[in-house]
Amino acid sequence: MAIPESEFLLSNLTSKSAEYYQRACEVIPGGVTANIKYFAPHPIVMKKGKGSKLYDLDGNEYIDYLLSYGALILGHGHPDVLHAVENQIKEAGTTIFGTPHELETIMAQTLIDLYPGIEMVRYTNSGLEATLLAIRIAMAYTGKKKLAKFEGHYHGGYNQVLLSVNPNLNKAGEPHQPQAVPESPGIPDYYVQNTIILPFNDIEATENILCTHKNDIAAVILEPVQGGFIPAEPTFMKKLRKLTEELDIVLIFDEVKTGFRVSLGGAQEVYGVKPDLTALGKVLGGGFPIGAVGGKRDIMMISAPNQGRDLLTFEEDSGAKKDPLFHSGTYNGHPTVLAAGLATIEVLKKDGVMDSLFNNTNILRQQLETLYHAYGFKMQTLGMGSIFNIILTDRPIRNYRDMLQADMTLRKKIDYELLKAGVYIKPLNRYSMSIVHDEKDIERTIEAHEIALKNVTKL
Ligand code: PMP
Repeated sequence: MAIPESEFLLSNLTSKSAEYYQRACEVIPGGVTANIKYFAPHPIVMKKGKGSKLYDLDGNEYIDYLLSYGALILGHGHPDVLHAVENQIKEAGTTIFGTPHELETIMAQTLIDLYPGIEMVRYTNSGLEATLLAIRIAMAYTGKKKLAKFEGHYHGGYNQVLLSVNPNLNKAGEPHQPQAVPESPGIPDYYVQNTIILPFNDIEATENILCTHKNDIAAVILEPVQGGFIPAEPTFMKKLRKLTEELDIVLIFDEVKTGFRVSLGGAQEVYGVKPDLTALGKVLGGGFPIGAVGGKRDIMMISAPNQGRDLLTFEEDSGAKKDPLFHSGTYNGHPTVLAAGLATIEVLKKDGVMDSLFNNTNILRQQLETLYHAYGFKMQTLGMGSIFNIILTDRPIRNYRDMLQADMTLRKKIDYELLKAGVYIKPLNRYSMSIVHDEKDIERTIEAHEIALKNVTKL
């Protein structure tokens, strides 16, 4: 198959990445350590990052809007984060204690103060592990076995949730009754049978499905803002909270993307809705691996090893005592990572920082919309706070199936042109802003988009 012209031209500018990629393919399957990092003809290999910029092996400079999938809200190498990490290691004299330490409670208190739904906290090493732990807690707490998740929502790459994230519509069932479609070979049927798929932003259908399976469903997990850019409608969110309460289903907000990015207290603060459990990650680690689960004291306490707790208190006469829920990990609550995360949150808490981040994001979104419309493209930006996406359709977007109406082929061509013009966005991914992206970056980004739009019109 011939290489599309845009990819070919990109390869010319990034020949060292191409060379490196060939070598990487010899020792790493597909040359990437996460499949999402791949794009044709080869990913661009980076060597340095500073502020809002990334620099590749060929020395090309990019304004970075991927920001490590949203993690780097302060941009690359923020001095406060670098200093906190160096200082922590220097003062502690080690990278990790392998015992409790003070930063664990300082961060826990910080999260309790910021997130309305968080009363207690446990740490993990990734967002994936956070949702995994939240689901286990919910299942242990309710004694039920099934999980309900929304079509199009991503919660990490493990069997229980790697279903109907980006399903083929031929297999995905009716819009009001979506079916679980595994997203990878190797997922046992058990998970397909025990995962119930819900249609996002459709409260009537969601209610029907939840009521039908209420005795089996332990938890509903959702991204309050799907993919970080399709917001739940406020009435949908309020009704979902009420419904899950009535049906004794644990409501889990997966705020791995939205945490600190749509507001310091996440989407739960924006919506004024308290989930039972919250999963956090990304920004929380200041660029280092982390995850956390926070939630209601009563639910969280089932993992406490110092309390022999009767999990079956709702069955009065069973008398069964259960062991605490298992949760461990060598690196949980890593002091160096927590120091980086706390430094990040301190910067975000400063007066005006979040407002200016949101303001810059809005300016960029508005200027992009004006530009695309001036060139006659059907386009909207959609998002919340410091995250948004460019969607090439003027139809309303409320869920996964609506997104299929957007012109992804054109979007991909534009993204390749942007890479050539020095704007780093993983093709088809969302945009995340940082507090160090400034007016000049926005101006250059708009210029790059104009070049991209002119080029794709010619292609
Ligand atoms: N949940 C959501 C909403 C995410 O966006 C992600 C990562 N993109 C995860 C969970 C998994 O997090 P991690 O990649 O840190 O395992």
